[in-house]
Amino acid sequence: MGQAKSDEEAIEAARRDLVTYGVRLLTDRLALGTSGNLSVRVGDLIAITPSSISYLETTVEDICVMTLDGEQVAGRAAVSSEWPMHSGIYLATDSTSVVHTHSEELVALSLVRDELPAVHYNIVAFGHTVPVLGYTRFGSDGLASATVAVMQDHNAAILQNHGAVVRGKTLAQTYEHALLLEWLARVYRKSLDYGSPRILSDSELGEVEDEIRRRRYGGLTNAKVQS
Ligand SMILES: [Zn+2]
Repeated sequence: MGQAKSDEEAIEAARRDLVTYGVRLLTDRLALGTSGNLSVRVGDLIAITPSSISYLETTVEDICVMTLDGEQVAGRAAVSSEWPMHSGIYLATDSTSVVHTHSEELVALSLVRDELPAVHYNIVAFGHTVPVLGYTRFGSDGLASATVAVMQDHNAAILQNHGAVVRGKTLAQTYEHALLLEWLARVYRKSLDYGSPRILSDSELGEVEDEIRRRRYGGLTNAKVQS
């Protein structure tokens, strides 16, 4: 009973956070209009932003609450078209938050590159590179299955001609990682303006990962490597 009550409170808190971070998607220019979507898992339930409502007009009551197998149990709006991608990631990983952006920087990169290379050591929050997935139509089973397959081994992926997906623990941390991904792509583009960028080697990145471990900053995906 106590657990059920706390899950209920946690899902309501998640719905409030999703309203707040939805607005941030627009103000941080990670998405435009109603594009992109955000979700949080609490136990067997997932709170997710709705389809076709501006983030500026979305209320807590609009945020959908779904079971893992796709039954909508709360929220007065229709669920996001990318629901299969979100639920698939939760079923395949231990993540409890997913941020899906339509950022212009990452979409632009996805049109001409196969990956985001290691232009800065902070990329170890994601691995040594961030992969670009080949194009598949939005809302399709193909997009969901391809994204879920790559997200089993990565906590971020760039979707060609579409956007990006980041998974993590709390919504705040996952959102910070979405901003970091954006920042890395901007650094990469600017470096290309200057000339041919120097990319960190696997051994240099391995050294960074060792140092993070040594400093006991926790698991790699949660590492604080902003120093
Ligand atoms: Zn999308």
